[in-house]
Amino acid sequence: MMHRNRRWSVSAAGSAEELARNLTEHTWCGCNSWELGGYWFLNDATSADGAQDYGIIKIAGPRGKPVQVESITFSWCASDKALQHVRAAIAGQIDASEFAHDVDPVIETPEQHGSCHLCM
Ligand SMILES: [Zn+2]
Repeated sequence: MMHRNRRWSVSAAGSAEELARNLTEHTWCGCNSWELGGYWFLNDATSADGAQDYGIIKIAGPRGKPVQVESITFSWCASDKALQHVRAAIAGQIDASEFAHDVDPVIETPEQHGSCHLCM
């Protein structure tokens, strides 16, 4: 379940390996998120202390709108498993999941984002 009133600060990830490391080896503020290969990986954690859930969103879905295709708790994944998830996502292998549904997240660049209550 995506947080409805969150603004996400999205940075480009350099590679699937870098993203997998970021998602598993660090805890981020609730607004820190990544983009890779046409997908957003949006932090959906309730708090920095809690499980680090991420929504995986295909930026341009079949109707040209963002579609959330999966939700993964990366803090429970080993980095090699996280890498498998990331690679499957950006290869489009989970686009057709039953979970898939339209979403309308507020996406900002780090510059636009500045700071919010989650990252102050
Ligand atoms: Zn913030």
